Amino acid sequence: MRVLVIGNAAVDETLALADWPAPGVSVLASPGGHDLGGKGANQAAMLARCGVRVDLVTAIGSDDAATRIRECLAVDGIATPQLRLCEGPSDRSVILVSRDGENAIVTTTDCADRIDPGDVDRALTADHHALLVQGNLSERVTEHALRKAKARGLKTAFNPSPVRASFSGLLPLVDLLVVNAHEAHALSGVAGSPDAARALLARGAKTAVITLGAEGALSHTEEGVIDVPAKAVTVRDTAGAGDTFAGVLVAGWLERSRVTASELERATSAAAITVGRPGTRSSFPTRDELRALGRPSSGPRSTPDGRPGAPPGEGKKMIDSGPPAKLAP
Ligand code: ATP
Repeated sequence: MRVLVIGNAAVDETLALADWPAPGVSVLASPGGHDLGGKGANQAAMLARCGVRVDLVTAIGSDDAATRIRECLAVDGIATPQLRLCEGPSDRSVILVSRDGENAIVTTTDCADRIDPGDVDRALTADHHALLVQGNLSERVTEHALRKAKARGLKTAFNPSPVRASFSGLLPLVDLLVVNAHEAHALSGVAGSPDAARALLARGAKTAVITLGAEGALSHTEEGVIDVPAKAVTVRDTAGAGDTFAGVLVAGWLERSRVTASELERATSAAAITVGRPGTRSSFPTRDELRALGRPSSGPRSTPDGRPGAPPGEGKKMIDSGPPAKLAP
């Protein structure tokens, strides 16, 4: 199984807050560390840790962060056949995390915005089975990638986050749509998850999966609705929960050719691991943890600390994950 992911890669900086800042108000924060982030890189990492062969089309800057991003992708065994090198800083996200683990994220996409349709065309090969895109690319590239993949007979998965109104016009091109409740509402115009999921199918998506935070997730296909509760977990930091869920779900969906209750269960279990630890990539489930959730991973063996094994010559962890996060004083 080989998947083409087109999406952003960024360096995340997490700040832990006691109180949310209001406009015009300054608040104090504790440093929560630096990590690899970006929805494209995050979901590619989860797919790779599930044993899927992943090619990531992304864009990085010309700074030190770019080197660290490249090395982190290589550690997860993610190939970058079409890596756009941009003059200037790499994309970054500032993640604000509150005491209860809720987050707000601000992301730059100057590099991701420079990915163009030609990058998609050059990266797509006859070996790819599926395409996965998120909402961080330009609308032009997002549409081009989905159209091209469809025309080539690939399965298409779309996690339209951050969501834009125009994305609802792309739903007929989408085999698997993964959205949170806010995105489901924005794309369907309908509030309430089962009704919103039904409306997303009526607009063209073949399968709609809606994540519901601490409430779990549901999927809707022509065959009906399946819902699963979230796993009980002490919340440390929810950043990356949606990406963990999406990557694991897409891996299961590709393997089974549909979303079953066990695919949803596995994705919610994987997301609970992420929610229970601070950080982004560093909080994601390892290959061993994913294997323990019920499906063999065919990737490289894990290192003794449970992290995925590095490809030859890629032994170093280059992203400084900083001091342990102080998220729950
Ligand atoms: P984020 O933007 O924080 O990555 P999201 O808004 O895309 O997340 P959510 O619906 O918040 O997506 O979460 C995705 C999945 O993560 C949920 O379906 C659930 O399985 C898991 N999850 C999220 N929050 C919790 C929680 N508090 N407890 C247990 N599981 C959770």
